[in-house]
Amino acid sequence: MNPRTPLVGTATEMVGWCIELEAGMTRRLNQYTCDRRCGLSLLSEDVDEGVTPFQLPCVCGGNLVSHFYHVQPEVVDKPADIEWYKPTSKQLKRMSNELLLHVTQGGLALRIVSDSAAHLWRLA
Ligand SMILES: [Zn+2]
Repeated sequence: MNPRTPLVGTATEMVGWCIELEAGMTRRLNQYTCDRRCGLSLLSEDVDEGVTPFQLPCVCGGNLVSHFYHVQPEVVDKPADIEWYKPTSKQLKRMSNELLLHVTQGGLALRIVSDSAAHLWRLA
């Protein structure tokens, strides 16, 4: 699979409570950790300017909750599992109305960039 395939179809979950980026970060890293016992934690990186959701749906049915850009020191040199990016107009044409609205309001779209994260969503 192409690891940079946009994750289309979860727009409803992605829209919602968005948070502003902290200024002055070299890599805009964030972590999303499951609020249930599955223990999943994903490292995200914002590759464009914009706002990102407070939480994402977890594969276990729980919610992956944002660390508000306060990441653990041991992850700062690691590659991200997911990226937040500003879609091109061509990419926007493939996205749902909810995601389109999110992006036009300054929100970023999500794509999976690690094989392990792709495997979780059964995309690999
Ligand atoms: Zn979970």
